[in-house]
Amino acid sequence: MRVALKECSWQTVGEDLIVVFDPRESITLEDPEGKVEALLSVLREGPRDVGALRAALGARGVEVTGQELDGGLKGLAALGLVERAEGRFTGDPAVDERHFSNLTFFGTFSDLDRHRTDYLRRVREAHVLVLGVGGGGSSLVQCLAGLGVGRLTLLDHDRVETRNFARQFLYKHEDIGRSKVERAAAWVRAYDPDIEVRTVDRWVAGPDDLADLTDGTDLIVGGLDGHPDAGLWVNEAAVRAGVPLVVGGATRTLLSYMSVDPGESACLACEFARQPEEGTGAAAAEDLVHGMRTTNPLIGPVAMQIGSLIALEGLRYLTGFQEPLAAGARVRLDLREGLAASRVPFPDVPDCPVCALAPARVAAI
Ligand SMILES: [Zn+2]
Repeated sequence: MRVALKECSWQTVGEDLIVVFDPRESITLEDPEGKVEALLSVLREGPRDVGALRAALGARGVEVTGQELDGGLKGLAALGLVERAEGRFTGDPAVDERHFSNLTFFGTFSDLDRHRTDYLRRVREAHVLVLGVGGGGSSLVQCLAGLGVGRLTLLDHDRVETRNFARQFLYKHEDIGRSKVERAAAWVRAYDPDIEVRTVDRWVAGPDDLADLTDGTDLIVGGLDGHPDAGLWVNEAAVRAGVPLVVGGATRTLLSYMSVDPGESACLACEFARQPEEGTGAAAAEDLVHGMRTTNPLIGPVAMQIGSLIALEGLRYLTGFQEPLAAGARVRLDLREGLAASRVPFPDVPDCPVCALAPARVAAI
């Protein structure tokens, strides 16, 4: 294995070595003999295997034992500074070029064991079910396509209307009156012919209407409107199938997104169980909110926020580059506070009837 140094900078200050990888933080390493600095300098010349590294260090007058070098490389890997050279690219120049930025992004999280190409492979092999290709779903589809998700199933039942044009940038003037999922699929195919797209034009009136779509799906994203319980239906279908779910939406002044890791995190039904005491003003307000039909207040910049946040949370599930941020919680962004974010965990409901439907997980070996 050849070890490659990621893009970083360093400077010796007394007996310390100051290293910067992520520009917002610096790493201070004790380096009284200058061995770490020598190792970084040798690595900067190009990827090398352990034998070649020792030889190059020796040529600089720095003698290290195999054990010392191994420990040093492990330490640099733990700090996220080195990775396996062969894992940086797929070896297919067309794929490497198409996914240049995706691979660079994953390079922040790669190390000697998890490679950039592992993250990318998971995305390219993933099958994602997108519920709704309207307000938030339109930008969500574009984000997923950019990431290169291998298979997309798009579900919607609407036609493209002129009023969609403030926020749904998938559609063109000539699409007015045509099926949204068909036009969205055409956009994806034109954008990246390697992405397999399937369309489902249907109304969803309960969890059973999604049962045939969850098979073989790695992730469900988006959100259905049109009924106050639509979110709970999707939640039940996802939990029953054991497929992670990321949904989002907006009230007049609050954007929010949340995710469900079936059997691991609380679900949307758990959150719904958080009801104020009956007969109180708070309970009445809750009832009013639940039954309220407001015209969706999203504008382009806000809709794009929701779509991109859902896509990013979905990427956490697909690749594990980070732990899901909104699993069993609602992440809220307040429009009145410049989109300041807060995270509100769902209540712990040990006897949630929907969570009980989650299939048992086989422990990862
Ligand atoms: Zn639950």
